[in-house]
Amino acid sequence: MKPALPPSDKALVPFVSVENMLRFIHHTGIETMLRDLADYIEADFLRWESFDKTPRVASHSDVGVIELMPTSDGESYGFKYVNGHPGNTRTGLQTVTAFGLLADVHSGYPVLLTEMTVLTAMRTAAMSALAARHLAPRGARCMAMIGNGAQSEFQSIAMQAICGIEEVRLYDTDPAATAKAARNLSHSGLHMTSCTSAEEAMEGAQIITTCTADKQYATILTDNMIGSGVHINAIGGDCPGKTELAPAILQRSDIFVEYPEQTRIEGEIQQLAPDHPVTELWQVFAGTAKGRTSEAQITLFDSVGFAIEDFSALRYMRDHITGTPFFTLLDLLADPDDPRDLYGMLLRAAPSD
Ligand code: NAD
Repeated sequence: MKPALPPSDKALVPFVSVENMLRFIHHTGIETMLRDLADYIEADFLRWESFDKTPRVASHSDVGVIELMPTSDGESYGFKYVNGHPGNTRTGLQTVTAFGLLADVHSGYPVLLTEMTVLTAMRTAAMSALAARHLAPRGARCMAMIGNGAQSEFQSIAMQAICGIEEVRLYDTDPAATAKAARNLSHSGLHMTSCTSAEEAMEGAQIITTCTADKQYATILTDNMIGSGVHINAIGGDCPGKTELAPAILQRSDIFVEYPEQTRIEGEIQQLAPDHPVTELWQVFAGTAKGRTSEAQITLFDSVGFAIEDFSALRYMRDHITGTPFFTLLDLLADPDDPRDLYGMLLRAAPSD
């Protein structure tokens, strides 16, 4: 076979593998990167009107969901492929895996392909902490972390780095998950308490983060567990028929969402009337809607994960990998010398014998 012609630079797409993502995070520092991701997300939420927005495209099965999350700001186009399979951990697979792509709108050519399993954990944590920075009671220092799976350490470190949380109270129905999280966070500087019930985890917590995975209308928090003045981050309820909070909690809370059209399908508020009032977070960031207005108020970030957060994460990676060794160039796009001679390219690559 003739040697293939080397592709030109314009056809080579920077690719961040899992290994390179892990090296990049260590090189950058996890706290620095979480803070930067929160800044990128906030900056993109502040230009909310300039994005194409649509609820993500979901393909459901009995055991989980596979989703595509696209958006564009007119200059760049991004999408993420992500799955959510709560039973996967029983067979050694992860609940959530992802990869994503950023492209130049003017040529349509991809400019970045990257793993996004780790990057999703980072952006989800940055988003939670960004919401809490605007909504949590002033001086909050203690968080209950309910659900101690793959996302939980990222959530805890983001709350420490961005909101100044000093203590995390861990609870999971599987004590091995709690032990894993406590071990992983033992050098974080956070004061860790492992709890044997959700009620115990919530003692003294001003921020309550639920991040469990169960494909049902679960009741991780019941109404009587929630006192006044707390901020709740509900991360794990993110699919039709998959929620974490008792509806009575929602009735007592001021609810903040990413993109209402998607959250009404996927979030905790799928349990409420379709016209139940919610506030869009971007408006809180912009100062055009109120966030926390009183000490007694219960604020709830009904997080489902929205495409603009992934776009921000992709944009951040594109901006920060240039000039680093944390990517390789992928021969992803066919690049014939004459752009109309794609078939000629195939002919020239034919085996000679
Ligand atoms: P994971 O499977 O690694 O961890 C989930 C943990 O929840 C497990 O340790 C499990 O034992 C625990 N759990 C299940 N039921 C529980 C209960 N009743 N009480 C306490 N703990 C319980 O999953 P993960 O990757 O950490 O993701 C957690 C959830 O977050 C998933 O539902 C996922 O879909 C969701 N998620 C949301 C976003 C977002 O942007 N909102 C992003 C990523 C993941």
